[in-house]
Amino acid sequence: MAGKAKPKKHTAKEIAGKVAAATTNKGGGKAGLADRLGGAAGHAKFKCPSCGIQSPSIKSAEMHWDSKHPKLPFKPEDWSDMHAVHGGVTTQGVAVKGSSKEKTKHELAKSQSGQQKLKEIEQQKAMAKFQ
Ligand SMILES: [Zn+2]
Repeated sequence: MAGKAKPKKHTAKEIAGKVAAATTNKGGGKAGLADRLGGAAGHAKFKCPSCGIQSPSIKSAEMHWDSKHPKLPFKPEDWSDMHAVHGGVTTQGVAVKGSSKEKTKHELAKSQSGQQKLKEIEQQKAMAKFQ
């Protein structure tokens, strides 16, 4: 009986999957879903004061107004800025698993590439002193 080929520890597909899992905004249950949909504000920025339809920009808002409510004057200030109402943020990435934090020196020192990076940081600091 021929021996089975030894399976590779990590296939490229596996690694790609892990990278995707760490950087893709998915999961997180209801909070994650709501976040991807743009949170409470939604991705559309402006809301029509007449019919409530949402528009991503004041330009398209005006186009909507001209075609749907041509009898009324277009007043940009009447269009509520949904992003401002909800604090200017539409999405927070609550379900993104990868950390956005910088690695600490201690973490960097654990790996060879990290140690290289530490050296670079030290060199940059030294250079800055003489400038
Ligand atoms: Zn409208």
